[in-house]
Amino acid sequence: MTLPDTPPPYLRAAVTAAERAQIEAMLGPITDDVALHAVRDGRGGQFQRMEFLGDSVLDVVLVVHEWAEPECPTCVKREATAAASDVQLAAAARSAGLGAWLEWRASDERIADLVETCVAACWLSGRWAHAARFTAQVVHPVADETVRALTIGAVGLEPGRVGRRAGSALLELAAGDAVVHAFPDADEGELSTRRATIHRATAIAVIAKERGLGHRGDPDLVLSAVEDQVAAALAAGGADVALLVAQHFVPVRHR
Ligand SMILES: [Zn+2]
Repeated sequence: MTLPDTPPPYLRAAVTAAERAQIEAMLGPITDDVALHAVRDGRGGQFQRMEFLGDSVLDVVLVVHEWAEPECPTCVKREATAAASDVQLAAAARSAGLGAWLEWRASDERIADLVETCVAACWLSGRWAHAARFTAQVVHPVADETVRALTIGAVGLEPGRVGRRAGSALLELAAGDAVVHAFPDADEGELSTRRATIHRATAIAVIAKERGLGHRGDPDLVLSAVEDQVAAALAAGGADVALLVAQHFVPVRHR
């Protein structure tokens, strides 16, 4: 039996300088090592965990874009922000050079998953401006208004249907980020299950009551009020401020 001279990248402990350079040429500086490995590997447990996180980050970027740029010509033309199929997304991602570092031919579905993992890597390394820049490059042409709303807020944003959806997306991200940190060995399925137990109306309504918000009755109405509160924090101070508010309503439960 003969062994190859060098093991495949996903079996190597370190990302080589050349691989890092290739990835960072596309994504910008990636300071989170776990995320860098996940992007480089394009598969495996950490890849799926990062994809789980990136999916929520991307949702936040796209709904804030819809809120901050209601006249976006691309959205108006498509009539939906997230309507791109895996095939369309993969084509755009490949032409931008995404996945050129993989030593195997990835399917369109896998490239679409890789986009989400890259969003997480950008977000963990450079927060919202970095994630929005990558989104603009590969997924959807989000502009400065979106970056400003994400990073410092936007006083002109009116509460309403889209704002509430932004609040909902931020609550989901807060819950997802919490379970990713609390359960470092959990796979994507377990993360989804655990997130679902904390990001749901009945659980959030209990906490809202504990926090003296004075809501009674229908948990869905309480959830809407919490989503509005998170959205108001976003408008006032940006997405990280909103995440701080959201975190209070989705604490991790270990049992
Ligand atoms: Zn748009």
